[in-house]
Amino acid sequence: MTPSILPGHPYFAYRDGALFAEDVQISEVARAHGTPLFVYSKTAMLSALAAYQRGFAGRDAQICYAMKANSSLAVLQVFARAGCGFDIVSGGELERVQRAGGDVKKVIFSGVGKTRAEMHQALAAGIGCFNVESEAELDVLSEVAVAMKLRAPVSIRVNPNVDPKTHPYISTGLKGSKFGVAHEDAPRIYRHAASLPGLRVIGIDCHIGSQITETTPYLDAMDRMLDLVASIEAAGIALDHIDFGGGLGINYSTDDMPPEADELWRQLLAKVDARGYGDKKLMIEPGRSLIGNAGICITEVLYTKPGEQKNFCIIDAAMNDLPRPAMYQAFHAIVPTTLAPPHEAAALMYDVVGPVCESGDWIGRDRMLDVGAGDLLAVMSAGAYCMSMASNYNTRGRAAEILVDGASAHVIRLRETAAATFQNEQLLP
Ligand SMILES: *Cc1c(COP(=O)(O)O)cnc(C)c1O
Repeated sequence: MTPSILPGHPYFAYRDGALFAEDVQISEVARAHGTPLFVYSKTAMLSALAAYQRGFAGRDAQICYAMKANSSLAVLQVFARAGCGFDIVSGGELERVQRAGGDVKKVIFSGVGKTRAEMHQALAAGIGCFNVESEAELDVLSEVAVAMKLRAPVSIRVNPNVDPKTHPYISTGLKGSKFGVAHEDAPRIYRHAASLPGLRVIGIDCHIGSQITETTPYLDAMDRMLDLVASIEAAGIALDHIDFGGGLGINYSTDDMPPEADELWRQLLAKVDARGYGDKKLMIEPGRSLIGNAGICITEVLYTKPGEQKNFCIIDAAMNDLPRPAMYQAFHAIVPTTLAPPHEAAALMYDVVGPVCESGDWIGRDRMLDVGAGDLLAVMSAGAYCMSMASNYNTRGRAAEILVDGASAHVIRLRETAAATFQNEQLLP
């Protein structure tokens, strides 16, 4: 096997010039199922998970996959069967966990805007913990639980106020963020929670941001969290678990060098042990780092359009399929599925753009590509925050998805028809 394209993609590699996902040739699945097409590697998912599992070996720990990163049912099945719980942010995500056969007792419910109906649904299902984000939410959750003659297990999300050094839209643990409660208010809010009849305080949580590629913000956040654990427990409120959130980055390009999950946790656990909290249950909520580099999106070149200032490579995938460039100016590597394409066009610098009627609909800028109409390209690192953020904008049906396991390719989502995109709409009489 020839070396992989990027260090983060050991399960997507060229063999004799053809791109493979594990033992499946990409151009063949694309021919069989059409494009745009998401292709996931099950081995890549499980190997990303294994790095965390190694990090927590011998510990009382629970990995809760943050399913908003990619909530396709078969993706959830893979993680559920490997022992994961789930971090959910809506009642809809809870239904997905149940449909995929996940263990609801291993579900934690995050998010700043849980409705009473969602609280009721999650209490009835018997989830493991509510990660509460405000004082007002504590009061409402207690009321809902009392009415159901239950006590809701709660953790409070605190802002350690460390800068994760990532994109502002995905930086969540700073003062001024809508998430969590301020570090200095946490002890008071914990006392309030402990006084409410419908709650049972069981833990503390934080989540400082996403696509974090440095270790220092995590180490600082852990120090701040352990300080809080000490002051909350000194107030007589026992905490069973510490939930340290998610956020570990992946290498979208060779410029991103995030720490490996096991190495990061070796350093974090050393801190936990040194402070005497090594016997507490640890929970984490990784999303992107479990699925981001386990998925790619295959797209066909529709047209090349030379221009005075720019050349455009117009592909059949768009911002509705791959929203990250438009939303966060994010970078995805874009590579051919066949090296040395037969038409032998000279490589040119292109902006790679989709068919959606928005100037923001670009997938890659200034890319050297040797392409012509009909060629297939792979947009790399497309496992996280792509399909789960996909929309029907421009009445584009959402892409199909394939999960590769060795030499088999399972269709895990059929391509969405136009009719399905308007099935809930009603014509006037
Ligand atoms: C989004 C989110 C995560 C997962 O973040 P990643 O960067 O995908 O690992 C974890 N916890 C909470 C509360 C989140 O909102």
